[in-house]
Amino acid sequence: MTEVRSDRLTGGCQCGAVRYEWTERPTHASVCHCRMCQKASGQPFMAFTGGRREHMRFTRGAPRLFKSSSLAERGFCGACGTPLTYGFEGTGRISVTMCSLDDPEAVRPAMQYGVESKVSWFDTIATLPAERTEDWLPAETATRLVSHQHPDRDMGR
Ligand SMILES: [Zn+2]
Ligand SMILES: [Zn+2]
Repeated sequence: MTEVRSDRLTGGCQCGAVRYEWTERPTHASVCHCRMCQKASGQPFMAFTGGRREHMRFTRGAPRLFKSSSLAERGFCGACGTPLTYGFEGTGRISVTMCSLDDPEAVRPAMQYGVESKVSWFDTIATLPAERTEDWLPAETATRLVSHQHPDRDMGR
């Protein structure tokens, strides 16, 4: 079963031009390794959580849309490029990218799709040497870093 920690989930893109909320909890969550998800994200896979379209609404801005096939549409922020949504024609459902949620741990994927395109090194990621950001980012440089990322919450709410 998909695990969802909170009923009201909010999220948005990196720059904050597009913000959304779920008025009811998404009903499913999954990762997809398919070649279209790889290309759309520029990454090995995409993670989505979704539910009925009428249960998700944009509270600020709206994504630009790219019809990635005759049957599917992908939304992204036109200002910063963050991939945000996925919709498959005729389903009445919409999905959002899981880590565009303000709480990236709010939902856990319960299924993998498109495994025929899974990159060969995906399953070895957890065995790679690992370090935290502060392990490689010099403290002096960190003090000069000013984030332009929208905070993980709605402003003024
Ligand atoms: Zn943006
Ligand atoms: Zn896919």
